[in-house]
Amino acid sequence: MAPRHPVAAAEPGLAPVSTVPGVGPALVKTLARLGLERVQDLWFHLPLRYEDKTRVTAMADLRAGERAQVEGVVEAVERGFRYRPQLKVAIDDGSGHTLLLRFFHFNRAQAEQLVPGTRLLCYGEIRHGAHGLEMVHPQYRRLDGNDAVAVDEVLSPIYPTTEGLGQKRLAGVIGKALALLPPASQLELIPPALCAEHGLTSLREALLYVHRPPPDAPLAQLVLGRHPAQQRLAFEELLTQHLSLRRMREAVRMRHAPPLVVDPTLQRRFLATLAFKLTRAQQRVSAEVAQDLAQTKPMLRLVQGDVGSGKTVVAALAALAAVSSGHQVALMAPTELLAEQHLHNFRQWLRPLGIEVEWLAGKVTGKARRQVLERVAQGAPVLVGTHALMQEGVNFHRLGLVIVDEQHRFGVQQRLALRDKGMTGANDPEAVAIDGAEQVPHQLVLTATPIPRTLAMSAYADLDVSSIDELPPGRTPVQTIAISNARRFDVIERVQAACAEGRQVYWVCTLIEESEQLRAQAAEVAHAELSAAIGETRVGLIHGRMKPAEKQRVMDAFKAGQLAVLVATTVIEVGVDVPNASVMVIENSERLGLAQLHQLRGRVGRGAVASNCVLLYQPPLGQLARERLQVMRDSNDGFRIAEKDLELRGPGEVLGTRQTGQLSFRIADLARDAHLLPAVQQVGQNMLADHPQQASQLIERWIGGAARYAHA
Ligand code: ADP
Ligand code: MG
Repeated sequence: MAPRHPVAAAEPGLAPVSTVPGVGPALVKTLARLGLERVQDLWFHLPLRYEDKTRVTAMADLRAGERAQVEGVVEAVERGFRYRPQLKVAIDDGSGHTLLLRFFHFNRAQAEQLVPGTRLLCYGEIRHGAHGLEMVHPQYRRLDGNDAVAVDEVLSPIYPTTEGLGQKRLAGVIGKALALLPPASQLELIPPALCAEHGLTSLREALLYVHRPPPDAPLAQLVLGRHPAQQRLAFEELLTQHLSLRRMREAVRMRHAPPLVVDPTLQRRFLATLAFKLTRAQQRVSAEVAQDLAQTKPMLRLVQGDVGSGKTVVAALAALAAVSSGHQVALMAPTELLAEQHLHNFRQWLRPLGIEVEWLAGKVTGKARRQVLERVAQGAPVLVGTHALMQEGVNFHRLGLVIVDEQHRFGVQQRLALRDKGMTGANDPEAVAIDGAEQVPHQLVLTATPIPRTLAMSAYADLDVSSIDELPPGRTPVQTIAISNARRFDVIERVQAACAEGRQVYWVCTLIEESEQLRAQAAEVAHAELSAAIGETRVGLIHGRMKPAEKQRVMDAFKAGQLAVLVATTVIEVGVDVPNASVMVIENSERLGLAQLHQLRGRVGRGAVASNCVLLYQPPLGQLARERLQVMRDSNDGFRIAEKDLELRGPGEVLGTRQTGQLSFRIADLARDAHLLPAVQQVGQNMLADHPQQASQLIERWIGGAARYAHA
């Protein structure tokens, strides 16, 4: 099908930013740092938020947490030097209310200008200070005499920007770029019939609106991102992400993979050595996986299942299929402790079948590392490890299957990197054989955070999904309570009592956003307290700064029941499995995400004994924290908790990808805009099938610039 638009004439968006009037070489460079290289990159560089300087708020009406514009006369000024230079300026709007402006960075001229009697117009965030409301580093300007205040006529957009490029200048450039927007029909990439079917309004109008909301724009709606113009853009952004993941999937599925079929005798022997029977859900999911593996197209499957649903066995069965067919398996986990746990399980299960399991982590170095790499290059059947498996120098002989555990902690980027790694079939003489196409391994992704369906559709559109929706029999639900840290002593007494009954206890110390060193210190404090109460020889300590061998020793002692209490940092978050442990205490629980709390809690409730979870919190609790702890007390259902987490915190947090930012949309918000996803899927399907050219153009428009930026 011919492209709808002849490129040169009707695609002014593809021209370089230098074609925008007033954009010279220096600005081109600065814009490039923001990933803005073409005119359309400027069109789609959307405001993060808006500032409302269209009115002046009376001081009596100011609320902490809001941004406001205020007018007032300087009443008093104080310069302090106690800890660091500080300038405090009290202003008064004549109503008897005052507001404190606080500056930590200021120059002489500024200080000299801000003298009593000066009239100021300020804009900033209102906060609670020690002596009432204040603004830290407000924007401000002096007003002359008794002139009436000239307020802005429209909301000011605030754009993501970079050093050396002020908001005014950037807004100016974007404004000039917007003047180059083609007529609506030429800008639209979603076919008109689909737009009509799904009630999508004009993209051109939407863009103009969000960049320059009119004076009467409903600010409250805009702030929440619920204005139809924003929703129109959110739709297109979600659609683009969906298309891009589907495209990646198609690209992988075009390749060949080795068909992997399990040897029935081997499988029977494996199942016979297990101490349990597979649940129906495990059987169903294993069958789905086996079916995929037998194909010559690469499997791309996500297995999701609540904590303790038994995903490891499903992975092991898949590994057996690969080994049976003479191919290698790589199993990767996000933390060393979890990887070690897999190593332990896999060795225990596979050694009796005569299958060796290799181990590779960052800490395997020198000769040991060279030997492992050597054996892997020669075809060692199973390699377990951390993300060290992705590093250079790890070359497989015939990699047939890649298993990634706790996927959500890796993120899309790493998932794709690993996939690329698997593509190097160079060491395998047979790899290139089928139809001359490159062979790639099958991919199995495991996640214990049940991903809300809406999110899965969007973030994992490149994967098929299987669910282990049943727990092994004999589990008892965990009783959860929240207790203030002020009653820490009572909790220690309860732990003491539980130990006296022969129960085992996890005590988890969490301090997020601090260093590993501080985390270790916090754990050492708790360790000392509990040792004093229960006896030094009965309390173990495990944290991220310990050597793997040392951690393993403590873990083994806890498993064997020699230790009654295990004090740990969140390194035990995922995967650790000690069925006799039935009490879990989590410190600073108010600071953790629900998904993480659920993971932690999932470490208990694995045996037949009723289990307890104590969520210790630092008072006072905010409203949101209170709500979150309540969810934990009310529910043991990972799916419900994940839905709630999504609602309360947003998808980046839920997927653990906030730092890598690859799910950070410009305008869409999965929690808010989930209702758009069914239509996004339909339109996506249709465009991939019937309008592939426009699909590519959409990806270029929304992701192109950012992708070029990421690779720079
Ligand atoms: P997760 O899905 O959280 O990774 P695991 O694979 O670690 O769960 O399994 C949790 C525990 O349940 C392990 O001790 C495992 O041996 C056990 N288990 C797995 N499947 C079954 C089953 N069908 N019946 C009983 N216990 C099982
Ligand atoms: Mg697991």
